[in-house]
Amino acid sequence: MYEREKLKWNGWGWADTHYHFAGNEDSFWRFLQAELNCKELRSNPALALEQVSLPPCRLSQAQLGELQAKIGQGKVKTSHFERIFHARGRSFSDLLDLRGGQLGEVPDAILYPESAAEVQMSLDFARQHQLALIPFGGGSSVVGGVNSARGPAQAGILTLDMSRMNRLLALDTVSLTASFEAGIYGPQLENILQARGFSLGHTPQSFEFSTLGGWVAARGAGDRSNRYGKMEDLLVAVRVLTPAGEWKTLNLPASAAGPDLRHLIAGSEGLFGVIVEATVRIHPLPAAQHHTGFLFQDFAAGVQALRQLAQSAHPPAMLRLSDQAETQFLFRFRKTPDTPSRGAAALKKILSWRGYTQHPALLLLGLEGDHSEVWPVLPLLSGSCLRAGGFPLGAKAGESWSSSRYQTPYLRDSLMDRGIGVETLETATTWSRLLPLYAALTASLQQSMDAGLAAGGKPDERGFVMTHISHCYPEGASLYFTFAFSLLPGQEQAQYAAIKNAACETIVAHQATLSHHHGIGAAHAPWLVQEKGFLGLDVLQAIKAQVDPEGLMNPGKWL
Ligand SMILES: Cc1cc2nc3c(=O)[nH]c(=O)nc-3n(C[C@H](O)[C@H](O)[C@H](O)COP(=O)(O)OP(=O)(O)OC[C@H]3O[C@@H](n4cnc5c(N)ncnc54)[C@H](O)[C@@H]3O)c2cc1C
Repeated sequence: MYEREKLKWNGWGWADTHYHFAGNEDSFWRFLQAELNCKELRSNPALALEQVSLPPCRLSQAQLGELQAKIGQGKVKTSHFERIFHARGRSFSDLLDLRGGQLGEVPDAILYPESAAEVQMSLDFARQHQLALIPFGGGSSVVGGVNSARGPAQAGILTLDMSRMNRLLALDTVSLTASFEAGIYGPQLENILQARGFSLGHTPQSFEFSTLGGWVAARGAGDRSNRYGKMEDLLVAVRVLTPAGEWKTLNLPASAAGPDLRHLIAGSEGLFGVIVEATVRIHPLPAAQHHTGFLFQDFAAGVQALRQLAQSAHPPAMLRLSDQAETQFLFRFRKTPDTPSRGAAALKKILSWRGYTQHPALLLLGLEGDHSEVWPVLPLLSGSCLRAGGFPLGAKAGESWSSSRYQTPYLRDSLMDRGIGVETLETATTWSRLLPLYAALTASLQQSMDAGLAAGGKPDERGFVMTHISHCYPEGASLYFTFAFSLLPGQEQAQYAAIKNAACETIVAHQATLSHHHGIGAAHAPWLVQEKGFLGLDVLQAIKAQVDPEGLMNPGKWL
């Protein structure tokens, strides 16, 4: 199912799938040009695969032969495509490297183990030959988590592609847990569970192209995390193979036997070892699901309503509040285009009279569970939104967003083809600090994008930022920014680095987290000490030294 050749090597998703503009392509480019104040969009094609040059594989024929003998024919790959496909993840910076053929280090070989025993053999081989070993799930990391790197003493790089380890190992319908091999992709996992009447309930936007092991390793979050929790909350037990031996936690509902070691594996991003199995909580398939939307007069009013919902006795499964820029973007380019009707025109007038169109903020909420968790709760939550000043938009608002959710990431490739850079970043903080952080990060992104354009000879152009809040807790929430800017030919990485650095500085200055769900990888590593403290980082370093004394696992990432 996940044959690598069927996936884009330098973009998002299936090789034969592209963003579908649903008839509004011209207006989309006009909108973007106006927002960026950009006179002309240029053609910015990516290099063809054959134009990307690679260093020769550093493994000798004897070493490759040994690997093949150990883990099996067809499980060791060194082709041009495989080495490039696995060289990077899917951050904007990664795509710049892939599209421009600027790869530097790439894996020397890619291993496709089909069992824990073959993972163990790969680890032994890496240790014996002093090679870096990079666990690779779907490769959808946006923080440089799978990028090729090696330590100074390492002779080469092996990437361990986990996608063939995709079996259900155990299903306990009494305890509501399931154990899987870690390389299983989102749709494979859900198909298995749903055929038996269950679901994990973890659907990140990258769901189709990411794996269970990657979700655990990066502490990911799905859109319904309010109901099901983040990946670390869903994780019941885990089995990891480290260079120092096997590390396994017991399958227990809870324990007071010292600190919880699962939480060291969740977020370890491949630095401690290879997750080969994970046992997760499962849930009966929800009998009822409902999305609805409310419009608020401004973002601050929406934040207040959102907080009340998150702190209520019945928080919805999904909550998402867009700021003005994102609300206007969503209304303009939603996938269910407005059919001009008298009803729609009248609604627009009412919204305008009542002050909802100047700084609109769209709140989407999704409920799911058994019928008693949805239908009696809906009026309670709606009442709360109405009392907070929300204007009810009905079910269509939510459906339009959820139906296009997995399509949206394809748009980034179309934008890059036209010389537009686009990236996202996310953080989390408490409710009391959320609006100041939102204002500071929006300003930081805007200023750094604009300053970069001015320094690059485009003083009239400007960047575009839009934001939403999702993943809400009683104590606070996650902020998610999307930003776009014209690329300066030949300076793209420096242009982006200035924006990213300024944003990370702003995050740590506000004592927010460097990441709510993308992880640290290489991208956030320089700032981690400011979040964890020197002693905290030393503790993690000591664990690393214990489980991976030679530093073979995923070098150059968060430690
Ligand atoms: C368009 C897009 C949308 C996204 N949306 C979301 C979202 O909604 N929510 C979210 O949480 N994230 C999101 N992400 C980020 C990314 O999908 C997540 O971090 C995801 O959890 C990575 O899973 P993966 O299988 O692709 O892991 P990879 O990218 O392959 O790896 C991620 C990290 O985990 C390590 N790793 C992978 N497998 C293993 C293993 N078996 N053992 C040990 N270490 C391992 C890798 O070494 C790396 O450090 C998005 C990314 C993109 C590009």
